[in-house]
Amino acid sequence: MLVLKNLINNNLEDPISKEWIDNINPSNGSIYGKIPNSSLDDVNTACAFAKKAFENWSVTSVNKRSEILIKIANLIEENLDTLAKAESIDSGKPLALAKTVDIPRSAQNFRFFGHAITQFSSDSHDMAHEAAINYTLRQPLGVVGCISPWNLPLYLFSWKIAPALAAGNCVIAKPSEVTPVTAFLLSEICIKAGLPQGVLNIIHGKGTHTGEAIINHPDIKAISFTGGTQTGAHIAKTAAPLFKKLSLELGGKNPNIIFADCDYNQMLETTLRSSFSNQGQICLCGSRIYVEKTIYEQFKTDFVQRVSQLIVGPPENNESDLGAVVSLPHKEKILKHISKAQNEGGVILTGGHAISIPNHEEGYYIAPTVIEIQNHDCSIVQEEVFGPVVTLMPFYNEQQALDYANDTNYGLAATVWTNNLNRAMNFSHKLKCGIVWVNTWMLRDLRTPFGGTKNSGVGREGGFEALKFFTETKNVCIKY
Ligand code: NAD
Repeated sequence: MLVLKNLINNNLEDPISKEWIDNINPSNGSIYGKIPNSSLDDVNTACAFAKKAFENWSVTSVNKRSEILIKIANLIEENLDTLAKAESIDSGKPLALAKTVDIPRSAQNFRFFGHAITQFSSDSHDMAHEAAINYTLRQPLGVVGCISPWNLPLYLFSWKIAPALAAGNCVIAKPSEVTPVTAFLLSEICIKAGLPQGVLNIIHGKGTHTGEAIINHPDIKAISFTGGTQTGAHIAKTAAPLFKKLSLELGGKNPNIIFADCDYNQMLETTLRSSFSNQGQICLCGSRIYVEKTIYEQFKTDFVQRVSQLIVGPPENNESDLGAVVSLPHKEKILKHISKAQNEGGVILTGGHAISIPNHEEGYYIAPTVIEIQNHDCSIVQEEVFGPVVTLMPFYNEQQALDYANDTNYGLAATVWTNNLNRAMNFSHKLKCGIVWVNTWMLRDLRTPFGGTKNSGVGREGGFEALKFFTETKNVCIKY
């Protein structure tokens, strides 16, 4: 039984209340560990140490902070196999995906922000006519909270922690209680890398318990949150009267718009990935596929054939294209969405059901599902499913494609497939979302801003945007 502990002041501690949550392996439904369900007492203790540590960390040289972050990146890479295995067991994702995407990108996050902080600068504004000059300091905020979801556990956890630490803040971080193991392993790595005591504190527990203690805590000056839209709204409501700075990365329902003039084979391969990577549990997955009418039937035949050949199996098997979805409640929620779609007139072209895997009968497996729809108002097009489910619909002209793409409450990302430059530019301009990919998907440059519009969130992460979020400006005006 793997018993996790909180990281507080560089010690690995049991929760003060001795309250624990079961950790379940989604590939077979077994309980394989215990997670602290930390309370306000644990958060209070961590905050007190973090406040103390801030006195030194905030004035530690940029070079020293950078060196420690890069050391963390190196240690993540040295422990790639252990971390990838832990991530795959904890979340149900294929081991190969954890090894090639989740863990390498977690290391890159630390390395990137380790370097970025050495290049971060601020402005000065000369007022020669007044014989005065303004310079703008960018100072760390103090103690900040980072709360992350279960779909890309270490990847999104590190995406927040790394810029917060680089900018000189001390952190109270909470991973998802559904997938906490790699955050626990990161605790050990950070101690080994020489991160000073109290600078990073990792507190485990349920959102409604531990998470609440973090978002309500008066000493926590900012919350960087990635998760569901409803939770984001709740956090915004809680944090606003406390005047906390907020970054909210929330749900998505991203369109994948395919024109007849695209490179068909490349589009087909990428669309398989953008639909079903990580069992469709990536906020950037293109879950609404719109195809130009002239190639619609051909695409439908080819896509459905390829999807039906995808292998759903135990995450540890090399040949598994899809592993398990993350939990039993999530599996049930996905199946409910599918049956509601059928009731609303959606036609299942492939999948649409749970799968029983030999020797893993209690695991949470769902066949990759393609649903053809006629009506754009139905819930399967409007609501986030966050599973291996995509919808398919034809469009007749550019305006209709654009209208469909923009017709949800979400606005995170969009993909457009076309070789027509004018159309690509026009769509990129008019799509209501924070990220547009043209003829590719999930190609990420860590220097670029990341985030959504509408119900997909507020604020931007990535590059200097993240370092700006985790610092406060102070203008100094000097008359000479
Ligand atoms: P969730 O909102 O249930 O939980 C996210 C985190 O918030 C967890 O750590 C949870 O414990 C915590 N939490 C829950 N209630 C809380 C509360 N009242 N106070 C404080 N913390 C609380 O989301 P999830 O189910 O873990 O993740 C899936 C969602 O995340 C999807 O909607 C997905 O689209 C979204 N997501 C968005 C992005 C993005 O970058 N926009 C990336 C990945 C996932």
